[in-house]
Amino acid sequence: MNIVWFKRDLRICDNLALTEAGREGPFIPLYIYEPTIWVNSNLGNVHRKFLFESLQDLNADLSKLGQPLVFRKGDCIEVFSSIAKMFNIKTVFSYEETWSYATFERDVALRNWFRSENIYWRELPRNGVVRGLKDRNDWSKKWKERMDRPPEKEPVKLDGVEIRSDRIPGSKSTWRVDPIDLFRKLPGGRRAGESVLNSFITSRHTNYKGGISPPNKAFVSSSRLSPYLAFGIFSIKEIVHAVKALNNVMDTSDLALLKKRRASIRSFMSRLKWHCHFIQKLEDQPTIEFNNLHSLTNVLDREFCERKFVAWQNGMTGYPFLDACMRCLISTGWINFRMRAMLMSFSSYHLWLPWQQSASYLASLFVDFEPGIHYPQCQMQSGTTGINTIRIYNPFKQSIDHDPDAIFIKRWVPELKEVEPENLFKPAPILKKTGYPSLIVEEKESRLKAAEKIHSLKKVSTFQKESKKIFLKHGSRKKNFKNKKTSKLVEIQQSFDF
Ligand SMILES: Cc1cc2nc3c(=O)[nH]c(=O)nc-3n(C[C@H](O)[C@H](O)[C@H](O)COP(=O)(O)OP(=O)(O)OC[C@H]3O[C@@H](n4cnc5c(N)ncnc54)[C@H](O)[C@@H]3O)c2cc1C
Repeated sequence: MNIVWFKRDLRICDNLALTEAGREGPFIPLYIYEPTIWVNSNLGNVHRKFLFESLQDLNADLSKLGQPLVFRKGDCIEVFSSIAKMFNIKTVFSYEETWSYATFERDVALRNWFRSENIYWRELPRNGVVRGLKDRNDWSKKWKERMDRPPEKEPVKLDGVEIRSDRIPGSKSTWRVDPIDLFRKLPGGRRAGESVLNSFITSRHTNYKGGISPPNKAFVSSSRLSPYLAFGIFSIKEIVHAVKALNNVMDTSDLALLKKRRASIRSFMSRLKWHCHFIQKLEDQPTIEFNNLHSLTNVLDREFCERKFVAWQNGMTGYPFLDACMRCLISTGWINFRMRAMLMSFSSYHLWLPWQQSASYLASLFVDFEPGIHYPQCQMQSGTTGINTIRIYNPFKQSIDHDPDAIFIKRWVPELKEVEPENLFKPAPILKKTGYPSLIVEEKESRLKAAEKIHSLKKVSTFQKESKKIFLKHGSRKKNFKNKKTSKLVEIQQSFDF
């Protein structure tokens, strides 16, 4: 008997493990809910809800094919060994996981156990992440080759296997998900994902370029596919192909609109590639979850301060726009890229807190938490990678640029509803009367102090040498990067609309 072990690939379409297992006869489709992994990976209720909704849909899809999902809770070696007592397990099919350090360690132990039990573990590539990548220069080409292949077809029929399943928590996925409210926590599952994808493909993508930085607009203009990608409700390849198909059916009569849509699609496609580009970093260096990428940044004297952390955590820093973003994130489980960057940068620069605790906290809030994107991004916004331009976001400037009428602020910080917008974009003693906290730190002073500390590090003679090594291992390649001087080898993110 074989097993298909579902993890974060909760779909029957474009699932290579399913295709490959199907070629070799009957198999058990298995999901293991592993409490220890959840505790050690910053996962909580927002993720659990999304997961169980997704499993309900997966179970419904598999049941239609003839074999429901087998759901088990527990340590994975114990679960596999209990199944091994009932069946002679030959091969376990799964994808190659690049996730938290806890899953990395689990896989080391599991590999040894499989070996001792003579079970073959066939791990198949996931998305564009390349296991055992030797040379970053080849990565882009490999990514493209993978994305150009057609998505795997879903199986037509599965042979039933006599095995019991524990009950999947949550209710059956019989509810209608259309229309989805993009301003609330998104529901999990393939049906909900299809609804989000369809609305993006049919109309929402038009305003993607230019519409993803202001947080109010971003809720609609961004694809909002991130949790569906993080849980593998869709593969990246499925989205790439869906967008390519859109290119072929676009109305060409309105040239201005066509140009706008094409620019948006290009911009969106570059993010899909970034998705894998970032996860590749964690694949190549799993310690990115804990350790500064650039070792010389270890000397930065960041110190945990509970008072500052708690204020930041609860959206009570005295910076209206920043607090609005945090409160919005707590309520909806999502915030757009620029605001994530601002939240992280404020914690790491203005408050001078170590990035690790802040990153863990944000991970527990993001429904789309994806360690391979999250930790490198958090380090990027904290100045510890050595290869990225230092960007310290001033929350006042961000609010003027992206919420000029303070609509977003007033929505999420209701105690400031009656305050004139201009008093929300600068230090204003008048806010005290509303009961809203005063500024936790002075903006300019703390920003300049942080910038000075980070920039002075770059003057250390060995800094650039290590940066170059990091770039060669992890940096994104532009066409002419080989001719660039070491000091110019920064990972450029022009495509992020800064
Ligand atoms: C501090 C910080 C932490 C982040 N943590 C996560 C995380 O845990 N999970 C996560 O999916 N994204 C993370 N991001 C990246 C980005 O903010 C989100 O992917 C994006 O906001 C998700 O919304 P969307 O699906 O509408 O994005 P879209 O703009 O529609 O992009 C489509 C997809 O491309 C990928 N993508 C988009 N932007 C990036 C990026 N900058 N880097 C890598 N991939 C990208 C995502 O998979 C996204 O779903 C983080 C960014 C920052 C600054």
